[in-house]
Amino acid sequence: MENRKENICSCGADKNKIVFSCSGASDVGMISDLVARRLLAEGKRKMNCMSVVGADIKKSIEKFKTKDVLVIDGCPVSCGKRILENHNSKNYKHLVVTEQGFKKGKSPADTNNTQKVYDEAIKMSSKES
Ligand code: SF4
Repeated sequence: MENRKENICSCGADKNKIVFSCSGASDVGMISDLVARRLLAEGKRKMNCMSVVGADIKKSIEKFKTKDVLVIDGCPVSCGKRILENHNSKNYKHLVVTEQGFKKGKSPADTNNTQKVYDEAIKMSSKES
């Protein structure tokens, strides 16, 4: 039988639920980053480094493929999604900040904007992949 405790990371998050963020330089990229960090801080998902996938760290990528993955991208360029797909990762939830009514370059990463995207991330998290 699986030991439930072993699946909990030090932040209290279920290690089987992970989040990647594009963490782009723009305001919407910053929102994606802040939302992922809040999910981690509140124990909802374990945040993992998108760069690990980009850097082709195979052992980690294979591990990620077994998880419930949420990727948050700032804009429709969808860098996070592309990075995952370039590594044959197809099973993930995808949240794009600009699809939540935000415009790149006109959406400060303030409390209200971040809250709106966070709420959507929580909603998506509860859906099946
Ligand atoms: S998805 Fe958009 S905001 Fe995020 S890194 Fe790519 S270009 Fe930047």
